[in-house]
Amino acid sequence: MTSVALRALCAAWWVAGTAGFDDAPDVRRFEFRETHMGSEFKILLYCADDRAAKEASRAAFDRIAALDKCYSDYDPESELMRLCDRAGGPPVEVSEDLFRILERAQSLAVRTDGAFDATIQPVVKLWRRARRNGELPTAEQRREALALVGFDKMELDPEARTVRLSVTGMRLDLGGIAKGAAGDAALSVLRERGITRALVAGAGDIVMGDPPPGESGWTIGIAPLEKPNATPEQFLSLSNAAVSTSGDAERFVEIDGVRYSHIVNPRTGLGLTGRSSVTVVAPDGTTADSLATALSVLGPEKGLELIESTEGAASFLVWSDDGPRRTLKSTVWSDLPQVQPGGEVIRP
Ligand code: AMP
Ligand code: MG
Repeated sequence: MTSVALRALCAAWWVAGTAGFDDAPDVRRFEFRETHMGSEFKILLYCADDRAAKEASRAAFDRIAALDKCYSDYDPESELMRLCDRAGGPPVEVSEDLFRILERAQSLAVRTDGAFDATIQPVVKLWRRARRNGELPTAEQRREALALVGFDKMELDPEARTVRLSVTGMRLDLGGIAKGAAGDAALSVLRERGITRALVAGAGDIVMGDPPPGESGWTIGIAPLEKPNATPEQFLSLSNAAVSTSGDAERFVEIDGVRYSHIVNPRTGLGLTGRSSVTVVAPDGTTADSLATALSVLGPEKGLELIESTEGAASFLVWSDDGPRRTLKSTVWSDLPQVQPGGEVIRP
């Protein structure tokens, strides 16, 4: 597809869902919050019926909780961790939910040549330990961890719906993709119940359905890099789309004056050290979440190439490594509807 055709398609898709909705006059805004996957999830929805709103949000949160039970790398009883316990053995049949997300992670690993890699957990574990101790892992510890990392060590068989982890001791980590996937699943639950004007946000990962009544989109505020809590610099109006932000603003460890991000480089076994904030808009939460993490590792040049080759994706990056602070955007970013904030602003 030519870039002009792609941009036209994207522009059409971003405004889809904004016209032709009749709303009952007594439609109200509901907001629900619960903690899942170590983050606060928020559901915003518009509905005329109190009970339907509560029941739908309950079902959506239950779906997120079920996915947490499947994807968690903190819970030794999660399906993911039980799969890892069998690393080094024969293929293991897994649930549809687990297989689907591993397929998505694996396809991004292939596209990014392993910059995004779900087998990264042994390195993430070293990073967590460094954060507790304030000490960097030794070269030997990094070597040992990296010997267990590599998307080529995970084999997926879609026919049999099995996963084989080829090296004993391998561990998987879906932290870079799970919240977006959970947002997608929760929004589907709401839609199945007829609630289409809804938004699900899990920390920096937001998935949107149709816009609030009378609005052309949900207003998303993009904050500046150095001050994530400051007034946003840009406001987008989006619906039936997802937006994710990744960066080191909140989770990092500083050792000997160097900041190491919780996003790690699978080549070095260390947390990323440049300051960055990556925002990705995509058709669904799984794509937006995983791409935002991937771009953080790839850096601006390769990252933007990846975005340009992903249908319906756009990205805005603020980068400051050794040189001066740089602001970059993909071609399609400029086609996203920018608005002046009037009503409610949602922040990733
Ligand atoms: P996010 O906040 O979505 O960017 O995800 C960050 C999380 O992704 C980290 O806390 C890790 O759990 C996981 N992660 C870190 N580095 C990588 C990587 N290179 N590839 C895939 N997942 C990663
Ligand atoms: Mg992510």
